[in-house]
Amino acid sequence: MSSDLHMHTSFSDGKLAPEELVAAAVAAKLNYIAITDHDTVDGICHLYEAGLYPAKAIHIIPGIEISAHHNTHDVHILGYNIDIYNRKLTDQLNDVVEARWTRFSEMVEKLRQLGYAITEAEVLKLAGTSKAISRSHIARVLVQKGFFASLNDVFMQVLDKGKPAYVPHYRLETEEIVKLIKDAGGIPVLAHPRLIHDDELVESLLDKGIEGLEVFYPQHDEEDVERYRRMAEEHHLLISGGSDFHGFVTRYPQQLGMFTIEDVYAEKFFKPASIL
Ligand code: AMP
Ligand code: MN
Ligand code: MN
Ligand code: MN
Repeated sequence: MSSDLHMHTSFSDGKLAPEELVAAAVAAKLNYIAITDHDTVDGICHLYEAGLYPAKAIHIIPGIEISAHHNTHDVHILGYNIDIYNRKLTDQLNDVVEARWTRFSEMVEKLRQLGYAITEAEVLKLAGTSKAISRSHIARVLVQKGFFASLNDVFMQVLDKGKPAYVPHYRLETEEIVKLIKDAGGIPVLAHPRLIHDDELVESLLDKGIEGLEVFYPQHDEEDVERYRRMAEEHHLLISGGSDFHGFVTRYPQQLGMFTIEDVYAEKFFKPASIL
């Protein structure tokens, strides 16, 4: 059996609804999965309220991926095993999600001024049930309308940090995120360190109360895995990993089960949900 501790649902920028994601994970014979939507736990609340979490067929770890404030680099913190009804956590996330809406309007306006004729309504239609409107949704509309050949082109040319249509939004500091996750009973883990593109920054983030490192990740080559594994050992951190599945054919992995980790890593993050 194998596991996957990083995936998104339609409650952030993934394609599949939470119940579809769980069904796909069961079909792929995964043992442990963590649902880690951007800045929201509503997808897991949705499963709980539908009686689908906890599940018999698979171990579901309630998780999250929170973007931290940083001026130059994309720092994402994963939280595993959080109490999805923790009031302080949900209050703070509501503020972050709120700020995403203002920023969404600003980015669409900037794009229009740059000559890309898209509307808020087009993006909202594509975003569907999302609670955390994001650059991904805007990027997909730009590709669908033929302005760019790929999502990657959109980011490289207009939406990456420092590019003309990029707008920052209110984000929590790394230390605040770590505390929120711990106070909600969870384990804070630094996501995809390679994508930070600066190992000194990675090392300094690990000194902020982080308890795990996402060593296994699709864009990590063998050398990265070994380097981050050593880093995790030196800092006495748990090792995690996942596919960052979003459910779109345009982005690897196209299906759950294509990128997995061994259960021995995943089981350390699982706690039976006995006190919900
Ligand atoms: P946001 O949270 O609004 O800042 O948007 C970031 C999201 O955009 C990430 O969660 C990714 O899913 C997506 N993203 C970032 N860079 C790329 C890229 N180069 N290609 C495709 N998707 C990307
Ligand atoms: Mn995403
Ligand atoms: Mn991320
Ligand atoms: Mn992710």
